[in-house]
Amino acid sequence: MSVPERKRASRWPGGSSVYSLATATPGTHRAIAARLKINRPRNIPEPIPFNGLLTNSVLANLPGSEFEELLRYLEPVSLLAGHELYGFQQKIIDYAYFPETAVVSHLYLLEDGSTSGASIVGSEGMVGLSAILGSGPPSYWTQIIVGGSALRVRAEVIKREFARGRALQQLLLSHISARLAQLAQRAICNGRHRVQERLCTWLLMIQDRVSEEKLPLTQEQIAHHLGARRPGITASCTALRENGIISYHRGLISIRDRTTLEASACECYRALRRPATAL
Ligand SMILES: [Zn+2]
Repeated sequence: MSVPERKRASRWPGGSSVYSLATATPGTHRAIAARLKINRPRNIPEPIPFNGLLTNSVLANLPGSEFEELLRYLEPVSLLAGHELYGFQQKIIDYAYFPETAVVSHLYLLEDGSTSGASIVGSEGMVGLSAILGSGPPSYWTQIIVGGSALRVRAEVIKREFARGRALQQLLLSHISARLAQLAQRAICNGRHRVQERLCTWLLMIQDRVSEEKLPLTQEQIAHHLGARRPGITASCTALRENGIISYHRGLISIRDRTTLEASACECYRALRRPATAL
């Protein structure tokens, strides 16, 4: 471990005896901290702790010195499935979040009471762009789809660091570009593609962000996030199960045949996997 990496480890919140950066190399910052303290909400069982392995793409691609400066402001937190990070038209955003294993969705509420997800964010980006864009209260909910870990930073800190115009700014602008591409693709997807194709695309997008075979998703949740009726989701899940592509039991969906799932997805999945350089 080089000297700068040791310095980084000693500055991690909580003290150097608890946190260590093991195989850190400039640009990747793989961190191992076996006993990282977690802000654990009360009365909620089994939060998923930050495992100490830094995988968020924005943070992992920061130059070493810039990451070291930001590190002192980062705080590991557990994000619990079903909870919201920001409410509808919440005026003040206290924190921005860099998901590690958690996946977050932006949900719109329609006048008839139904919902539809606009975009999802996992370890590839940051949640809380309003903090740096200075935009008004969001017209959507920001809800945690898959519980997991994240690193959070106070909104005023990320706004200040973004304004410095260094690598963080470029990385976040790239993420914003990808988010815009996702929003555009989602609009096309909702209007043109069948529910089962959309379901396949969405499951793949979630799995890409959690790297797990089993996804903790109920059909009710899927219907909310896809803006689809529950019977349509049930019929699609049944068809996928009968073809051996997925299985599900008690709120856990297992992807059995990813290759066929990809082949069954609409073109949106392939489009969204491409780097968002076209914007
Ligand atoms: Zn589509």
